[in-house]
Order: sequence, then structure tokens, then C-alpha cells
Amino acid sequence: MELKLEQVAGFPKSLSEKPQHFCPGCTHGVNVRLIAEAVDALDFPKKVVGVCGMGCSALLPDYLEFDMVAAPPGLAIPVAEGLSHELGEKALILVYVGEGDLYGRGLNALIHAAIRGVPLTVLCANNLNMGMSGGHLSPTTLLGQKTATTPGGKPANPYGISTDFIRLLLTIPGVSFAARFRGFTAGEIRKGREYILRGLQIQKFQRGFAFVESLGICPTNLELPPPEAVKRVKTATRGIYPSGLFKTPEVGRIP
Ligand code: SF4
Repeated sequence: MELKLEQVAGFPKSLSEKPQHFCPGCTHGVNVRLIAEAVDALDFPKKVVGVCGMGCSALLPDYLEFDMVAAPPGLAIPVAEGLSHELGEKALILVYVGEGDLYGRGLNALIHAAIRGVPLTVLCANNLNMGMSGGHLSPTTLLGQKTATTPGGKPANPYGISTDFIRLLLTIPGVSFAARFRGFTAGEIRKGREYILRGLQIQKFQRGFAFVESLGICPTNLELPPPEAVKRVKTATRGIYPSGLFKTPEVGRIP
């Protein structure tokens, strides 16, 4: 009997072998791996070009084996739009940006790119704080969460309640795909790879703006060991930042 071996694990071609410099347990490392696997899985000869935002996301060009542009704070989407106009169908544009950068300084650009249905695939790393710049408040910081700028816990006044920005994007017809996964549980990490791949495939067929959020942990600024940080974020975000597939071009909004 002939023995057939099937490859079930390996090193993605799109992932650099350089050592990564994220803190231990950080979910940015998971996102980098998922991006590399999704790009490898594309049956598409055209080039993928990445755009990264500021902070810990700005480390990505060192870890991925395709061209990436680093954008100034708040400008990842405008830079990506410029590339999209310039490169047209010659490339797929993948944007990787943290929530402080995208939902804070970059929100206006995000909304208008979504309204115009610009063919982009955006992956937002939402780890509930501005990680690299010292762990201060971000637009998704949870009520009561301690950060460098809210050492007593985030109060609703004057900062407002925790906001799910995917709900906002779902009100915009130009958004054709929207999903969120938790980058710290095995089942959802597998879904994350599917969502990123799906987002790139939607762009390939010029079917509009695709958005994926990876809910993650920043153990360093939570000042917790990674397993404790996972438990804390899993419990505290329940009902506030739900995961799942929210919209596809085929079905529209999924109830
Ligand atoms: S500061 Fe936070 S987000 Fe940045 S690498 Fe460390 S754990 Fe990750």
C-alpha cells in the first residue's frame, strides 16, 4: 500500500524568518502569521502590497515577505487608497493598523473609504490600548480599564462608553465584508485566517471594501501574564465586541 503524506503544518512562504520583537503573548504575532498564511493561500498571481500603521503595527514590514509601506499616524487608509488608485488591478492592497490609529486619528478616512467602497482589505488589530506609545487610552478601551492615561480606570465621563466600530461600518453600504475574530482562541484563530483570505478574494473581484477586526491582547500594558490577559479580555469584552461574520457580498448583513 502506498503511503501518502499530507502536509498539515509548515512555514508560510510569505513569513520572514527574522525573529519578531513583539512582547511574549502579544496577538500581533498571531496576526502576522495569519496574514502570511492567507497570502500564501491566494490563487492569484497578482502582487499583494501591504500598508501598516504606526505603533507596534509598524514592525510588520520586517516580518512579511512582500512589499509594505509604513504610513504616518492616521494615514494608513489614505496611503492605501493612493496605492489602490495607482496600482489598480495590478495589486491587492492589505492594510494592517491598530485600533488607536484607525478608529482615533484615522476614523474620518476609514469612513470615507468605506462610503466610496474602495477595494481594500483592512485588518484592524484591536488590543484595547495604544500599545507601543506606553499603553494609553484608545477608542476601544473598556469602561473601568486601567491605562497609562486613566490609572484609576476609564470613566464614561469624559471618555464615553466602549464603542464597537464594526457596528458603525455596517451602516455603510460600501462595506461589502465585515468580520471579527478573537486572536487568542484556537477556533477563532482559524476563522481569522479564513476572514483575511476572504477579504483579499473580495478585493480581487473588485467587490468593495472588506474589513476584518482581530480582537487581541496587550499583556505588557495590562500588566498580566498572557494566560491571565486572555482570561481578562475574554470576559470583559463579552457582549461588547462580539466575534463572527457580520456581512458578506452574497448574503448582505447577517443578523
Ligand atoms: S506593547 Fe502590547 S501591543 Fe505592543 S508588542 Fe507589546 S504586548 Fe504587543
